[in-house]
Amino acid sequence: MHELSIAEALIEQVQEIAAKERATVTAIAVSIGSFSGVDPEALDQSFKIATAGTPLAGANLDIKKVPAKLLCHSCEKESCPELPLFECQYCGSMDCEMISGRDMLLQSVELES
Ligand SMILES: [Zn+2]
Repeated sequence: MHELSIAEALIEQVQEIAAKERATVTAIAVSIGSFSGVDPEALDQSFKIATAGTPLAGANLDIKKVPAKLLCHSCEKESCPELPLFECQYCGSMDCEMISGRDMLLQSVELES
């Protein structure tokens, strides 16, 4: 279950921020691309498991799902692909570049001192 290692990396990152600010983390917001390979539910579960007994226990994890977006190199239009179909919805070209939906990003951290 690789969501657990993702959760642990996320927790480490957030704890660093909290330590710097000498504050307690109350909420964390992340965005997960639909093509990132991260399962939002599994991450939520892993986050709860990994934070149990740590200063982060009870912090709210807000997960925003980001749809995949393609930029077509043939017609220069952006479209949201019907995964797993990786083609432009306007001209059907497969010459597309994924411009969003591939990453998981830490959006914000809410702190309370
Ligand atoms: Zn196109």
